[in-house]
Amino acid sequence: MKRRISLFIVLAMLLALCPALAESRDETVDFVVVGAGAAGVSAATEAARQGKSVILLEKLSFAGGSSALNEGFLWACGSDFNALTGKGYSKEQMKTYLRESSRGNANHALNDNIVDMSAEIMDFIVEGGAKFYTDKFTPSGADARDLDVFMAEGAGHSLFNALLAIAERYGVIPRYESPAVALIVEEGAVKGVTVQDAQGTYNIYAQHTILATGGFLQSDELMDRFMPEWNSEYPYCTAGATGDGHKWALELGAYMSGYGCGGVWRTEDGKNGYHVEGGLAPVLSFFMVNIEGNRFCNEYMGADKNQLINMQTGKKAYCFADANSPYVALLEQGVANGYAYKADTLEELCDVYGIQKDNLLASVEAYNKCKAEDGQDPFQVPLAYMTSMTTAPYYMSLYDPAMNTNCLMGLATDAYCRILREDGSAIDGLYGAGEIIMGNLCGGTTAGPRYPACGSCLAAGIYGGPLAVRHALGIIG
Ligand SMILES: Cc1cc2nc3c(=O)[nH]c(=O)nc-3n(C[C@H](O)[C@H](O)[C@H](O)COP(=O)(O)OP(=O)(O)OC[C@H]3O[C@@H](n4cnc5c(N)ncnc54)[C@H](O)[C@@H]3O)c2cc1C
Repeated sequence: MKRRISLFIVLAMLLALCPALAESRDETVDFVVVGAGAAGVSAATEAARQGKSVILLEKLSFAGGSSALNEGFLWACGSDFNALTGKGYSKEQMKTYLRESSRGNANHALNDNIVDMSAEIMDFIVEGGAKFYTDKFTPSGADARDLDVFMAEGAGHSLFNALLAIAERYGVIPRYESPAVALIVEEGAVKGVTVQDAQGTYNIYAQHTILATGGFLQSDELMDRFMPEWNSEYPYCTAGATGDGHKWALELGAYMSGYGCGGVWRTEDGKNGYHVEGGLAPVLSFFMVNIEGNRFCNEYMGADKNQLINMQTGKKAYCFADANSPYVALLEQGVANGYAYKADTLEELCDVYGIQKDNLLASVEAYNKCKAEDGQDPFQVPLAYMTSMTTAPYYMSLYDPAMNTNCLMGLATDAYCRILREDGSAIDGLYGAGEIIMGNLCGGTTAGPRYPACGSCLAAGIYGGPLAVRHALGIIG
C-alpha cells in the first residue's frame, strides 16, 4: 500500500514537473474541421475520401446544427440526379442566374466553383443514401421561377443523417462536446485550433483548418455589430450559431460580405408558413403591397424581404395573384386551409385586412401598364417575371415575417473558400464552408439583401466543404 502511494506521488510530481506529459492530449492531423453541420460533415468526409487524417469537432452533444432543422432543399446542376428527374438548371444557367440574381454583387468565382462541384457531390451523396423526391420539387421562391429545387425526403434531418452515415463509413465520427475555443496562429498563418472539453484544454495542430461553425444569429454581439436591424426577430436556428468562427477570423483581419437574413413567415393562426399545407401562398403570389396599398419592393427577393416588410406599417404585407398564376393549385390549397382568400374583385379582398382600395387599384393599374407596355418596373422586377393581375378570381394572403433562420452575411472568401483579409490576401491555412461564408453567394447589401435560389445555404456547405478540401490539397485551383 505504502509503495503504491509513493508511486502515485512520484507520478504526480513527474506530471507537474514535465509540461510535455501534461500536453500529451495534443494531436497533429491534416485537417481539423470545426462544426458538425452539413458543411463540416461534408468537408471532413471529403478529407477522409482523399486519404487524409481529419478531426471533426462539435461543441454540442449532438451533430446537425441548423442543417438538421431545415427543409432539406438543395439544388444541383449537371448531376445524374438532374438527368434522372429532368429538373434543375444546367451549370451555365445556374452560374448566369446566380450572377444576375445578386445584381453582380456576389462572389461569382466561388459561385461558379460551387456549381461545378454540385454535380459530382450530389451523385455521391445520393449513392451514399441521401434520398430526394423524384416526383416533388419546390419552386425556388426567388426570381428563378423555373428552377425546381430538390427536396430531401424527411426534410433536413434525414438529409443530415444520410450525410453523417456517409461520413461514418469513411471513419469520420464527430468529436462531441468539444468546442474549439481559439485558432492557433503562427506568423499570421493558422495552424489548428485549441479545444476545451470536460477534461481541459488541448491543441489540434493541422495543416488546414476549416471553419464550419454556421451562422451568428445567436450572437447579439455580432448581430448588433453587423445587422442590428435584423436583431429584433427570434433566431430560429441551432443554439450553436454563436458566430465563433466569425469572431476568430475577424480578429485576424477577415471581413464580412453579403447582408441580411433568411427567414420564415407566420400564418394568421401563428403557424410556420413553410410547414402547413397552403402556407406557401404569400411567397408564391408575386404582387405585394403594404396596408396603404402600395408596392414597396421587388417581390422576387425571397425570404430576405422580411426586413423590408418589417419596415412597413404594422410590419405586414399583402400578396396578390390572379387566375393566371402558375401556382393556382397551391393558392387554392391556401384558400381551403384558411391561409389565403379568393374573390371576384380586388376591392373585396382589400376589405379582409383594410388595405387602402384606391391605392391598391392604382398600384395594380401601374403594374399592368408597365407589363403591357414593356416598361421598366420601378422595383426592377424583370418583365418576364411580372405576374398577371388582370383576371378574376383573385387571391390574397398575408405575409407576416417571423423569425430569422440563417445569415446571408458571412466571412468573405476567395473562389476556393479561403478566408480573406480586408487587404484581399488569404489567411494561410484557413478555410470556411457553409453558412459562415454564405454572404459570398448572396452578395446582398444594406440597400438590398439577397437570397438566391433556395437550397443555396446547404450548397455552400455540402459542395463548399469538398471544394475547400480539394483546394487545400492542390486538386483544384
Ligand atoms: C427552418 C430552416 C429552414 C431552412 N431551410 C433551408 C433549406 O431548405 N435549404 C437550404 O439550403 N438552407 C436552409 N436553411 C439554412 C440552412 O439550414 C443553414 O444555413 C445550413 O444548414 C448551415 O449549415 P452549416 O453546416 O454551415 O451550419 P450548421 O448546420 O448550423 O452547423 C454548424 C455546427 O457548428 C457547431 N459549432 C459552432 N461553433 C463551434 C465551435 N466553437 N466548436 C465546435 N463546434 C461549433 C454548431 O454547434 C453546429 O452544430 C434553413 C434554415 C432553417 C433554420
